[in-house]
Amino acid sequence: DKFNIAIDGPAGAGKSTIARLVAGALGFVYVDTGAMYRAVTWKVQQEGLSPDQESEVIALANRMRIELVPTAEGQQVYVDGVDVTKAIRTIAITDHVSQIASIGAIRELLVAMQKQMAVSKGIVMDGRDIGTHVIPDAELKIFLTASVSERAERRFKEMQSSGTCTMTLEELAQDIARRDQLDQNREISPLRRADDAILMDSTSMTINEVVDEILGLCKS
Ligand code: C5P
Repeated sequence: DKFNIAIDGPAGAGKSTIARLVAGALGFVYVDTGAMYRAVTWKVQQEGLSPDQESEVIALANRMRIELVPTAEGQQVYVDGVDVTKAIRTIAITDHVSQIASIGAIRELLVAMQKQMAVSKGIVMDGRDIGTHVIPDAELKIFLTASVSERAERRFKEMQSSGTCTMTLEELAQDIARRDQLDQNREISPLRRADDAILMDSTSMTINEVVDEILGLCKS
């Protein structure tokens, strides 16, 4: 039978890779909610707005159309019909996304969309507030962490292999620590482990080990 899995945790803990593999193994749909905050941030930049112009940002978010299309590789993201899958991964977006994600009305809008996606069950959703706010009744909740240095190292290797390495390891670690701070300390639905979420520290685990452990939890 279908059920929902919520995977939360800080930036770079491996949530998206793991959520995608778990979804693939179960035949479930993977939803990357960070991509939705990134999509709003992309549109804000596209329209030449500053993240500080909150009422304009909120109005823009309300009239833009975000589509998530599940694919074998994960998920494609469209904003008003434009494929932004790659464009939302740039540093320019990453630098401002946490600020956009701290705006209450933006969260309300995106959380409502995410709740809607989860109604049909068979969803593996990753983010920061999935177990606490978006799908508080998810059948399985995972809180995935790893040390800052391990997360920076993984991002660095990822960027090196995709040839998009524009930051040093040290800069990456600083950026991850900065985003952790913003995500954990914002007023609205800060990054927290839900009381009933299983804590998994992936610092010294491989991707497959984490995936297997989660799949094992699905059977019990
Ligand atoms: O997961 P990803 O790193 O792409 O998320 C980008 C940013 O979006 C996070 O740093 C966080 O500020 C925000 N976010 C959020 N709530 C979510 C998913 C992402 O606030 N459910």
